[in-house]
Amino acid sequence: MSVEEIRVKGIVQGVGFRPTVYRLAKVFGLKGDVCNDGEGVLIRVAGNEEKITEFINKLYVECPPLAKINELLRSPYLGELHFDDFVISHSVNTVVKTEISPDAATCFQCQKEIFDPFSRYFRYPFTNCTHCGPRLTIVRAIPYDRNNTSMVKFPMCGNCETEYQDVENRRFHAQPVACFKCGPSAWLERADGKPVIADMFSMLDDVDAVCTLLQKGEIVAIKGLGGFHLACDATLENAVLKLRSRKQRYHKPFALMARDINIISEYCEVNDLEKQLLNSPAAPIVLLKMKSNSRLSSAIAPGQNTLGFMLPYTPLHHLILRRMKNPIVLTSGNISDEPQCINNEDAKEKLSKIADYFLLHNRDIVNRVDDSVVRVINNKIQTLRRARGYAPASIILPPGFEKIPTILAMGSELKNTFCLLREGEAILSQHLGDLENVSAFNAYQETLNLYLNLFGHKPEIIAIDKHPEYLSSKLGKELAIANQVKLVEIQHHHGHIASCMAENQISLDTKPVLGIAFDGLGYGEDETLWGGEFLLADYCQFQRLATFKPLSMIGGEQAIYQPWRNTFSQLINAFTWEELTEKYSDLDIIQFLQTKNPTLLKQIIEKGINSPLTSSVGRLFDAVAAAIGVCREQCSYEGQAAIEMEAMGNVKILNNDKESLNYSFKLEKSANIYYIDTSSTWREILNDLKQEISPSEIAGKFHQSLAIFIVKIVKKMQEQHQFQQVVLTGGVFQNQILLQQVKMGLEKLAIHVLTHSIVPTNDGGLSLGQAVITAARYMR
Ligand SMILES: [Zn+2]
Ligand SMILES: [Zn+2]
Repeated sequence: MSVEEIRVKGIVQGVGFRPTVYRLAKVFGLKGDVCNDGEGVLIRVAGNEEKITEFINKLYVECPPLAKINELLRSPYLGELHFDDFVISHSVNTVVKTEISPDAATCFQCQKEIFDPFSRYFRYPFTNCTHCGPRLTIVRAIPYDRNNTSMVKFPMCGNCETEYQDVENRRFHAQPVACFKCGPSAWLERADGKPVIADMFSMLDDVDAVCTLLQKGEIVAIKGLGGFHLACDATLENAVLKLRSRKQRYHKPFALMARDINIISEYCEVNDLEKQLLNSPAAPIVLLKMKSNSRLSSAIAPGQNTLGFMLPYTPLHHLILRRMKNPIVLTSGNISDEPQCINNEDAKEKLSKIADYFLLHNRDIVNRVDDSVVRVINNKIQTLRRARGYAPASIILPPGFEKIPTILAMGSELKNTFCLLREGEAILSQHLGDLENVSAFNAYQETLNLYLNLFGHKPEIIAIDKHPEYLSSKLGKELAIANQVKLVEIQHHHGHIASCMAENQISLDTKPVLGIAFDGLGYGEDETLWGGEFLLADYCQFQRLATFKPLSMIGGEQAIYQPWRNTFSQLINAFTWEELTEKYSDLDIIQFLQTKNPTLLKQIIEKGINSPLTSSVGRLFDAVAAAIGVCREQCSYEGQAAIEMEAMGNVKILNNDKESLNYSFKLEKSANIYYIDTSSTWREILNDLKQEISPSEIAGKFHQSLAIFIVKIVKKMQEQHQFQQVVLTGGVFQNQILLQQVKMGLEKLAIHVLTHSIVPTNDGGLSLGQAVITAARYMR
């Protein structure tokens, strides 16, 4: 007989861990107790030593779906233990490190119950249990119990109470437990305010009616888990076009939801890891390779070769899709760039011109959480938008970050997230969108306050981006003054690099790595806009080794939405206008630029009127795209041109062996920095256009040539600086072709390449980098 104390750390609170311990202890005939405390879960057991070992092995195997054991330590228990049985003890009130779980997709057992006519949860759209259901989206305060969530207005009925109290039940201590009798309900309304007449469709209930409406080509606004969506049948061209024009969203791809994997497989290729992701508790949108001959409306993802699919992740979605053989569009319910609506009145006001019907419910969404977006590249997960299902799960920090001050990092301007850093871990907020939108900025402030309260986080240092005009930076400054804490400014691309290092568990005392950070743009040390950077960096500091020769962004921000402006800038760096008109006057792009008053544009560049210099690779991609006819005049979201060019670029058709067939780049040194000049590249691209080489071949060739050149630069830099690792980061590395080609090339040189996985490579990952740099500087 031995008596042991077992300490379990990880995600072990509020996820059904204690009942599992209880059940297994009973199975193995052990006596003792289990409780939650500040460090996780503490188990005290008395029994046969072999039985205890078996018990622990079983605990790993039968760990509840949302729980994660990071550490399990056994030690002899030295106190006295008097137990006749095994019990769940009350939580010990030491200082509790709060964990809030992400929302989790409906588990398999709950799914079975909603389709079982003999279950009391039959067709109940809000059922959930310890293994699934709403979490972050309903929580208002800590501790996480029903009174602190939006379930407070639904007192449990007797049956629910019994299940909630029963340690052997799947719903033991599941805070949002509810049923038809006591819980939230859903109902249908018409956008025009007229009554819904039930016998107008053959339907079981209001939720089921949504399916009929979608099949008839109607647009339905559906209140979901983290916000409203707009839905229509994805195979009905007219419905999709109607949604696009009413929402005034003309190009950005729409996300899709389908009842099951089989339906998704009709439209896309789905490999094992992708299946796993679709079926995971996070249930993100997974970008999948589109099959040809799709029956789907071509307006779903114009110019793309992927579709974003997700599976139903709440009982409500399962019930709507039950009879639906087609995928449905499920795009965020908002107007223009605003955050998605979360309350009924607001949605009815804003979406009534877009939706024909509303499916509403009366469980309040406290926290707005968008759908997450991921994809798989070479069997590795890449997170493009980290939100529902992932946030606010903590991210374990690398060695060296165990004893650090509490830090708040404010993040970027676009694709914003913020980050709370505390001992050994980072809590990254869900994706909060583009702050230049007033409602998004308001939502950012609300979410920030909520997180600071939920996690009891009192920052000792606040980190912001160096860009003086970012709203997040301005707010950070105000907060630092108001709370009298230190403020630290972090250079944008250093932030990206540190973010990638941190998620790859690179230790605090690492030797410098070479960080390649390519993006749209970020504020540089020299007050110009950077975006094509090779930085030798550790967590504390960096040295700029190489960059792209800075060129004008004609008209400032306008250049982001009118790709041809970047083409002009690139061409005028490589040629004189006279030379272009003499040699290439028959090319579309030159004829097009003729109509844009080249003389005036040249003067604008020369005088630098509203035309900041930038080394941005994002803008270089825009320039090439516009030259070959992709989004030449206009694009409706940042990076659209580059994304469409990537979709058409085919590297496989190229002759990989002959380097002379690639476009060339030139490297020039000035004041200890190497500058990449694209003049020769543009001469070669125009010659290809003149020879009527196809845009798809030029696109492929450009991707490959750039990748080969990057590898060359790395090799050259390595001879001078002896780094072992290269980090690829920044929004441009969402480009799969570039990412894979550069990675392959570097690995051939036996260089270790670090890329993002759980944290976005775009600005959504920036706040993590800002936070770890701040911590590292403090430690030094
Ligand atoms: Zn469940
Ligand atoms: Zn009930």
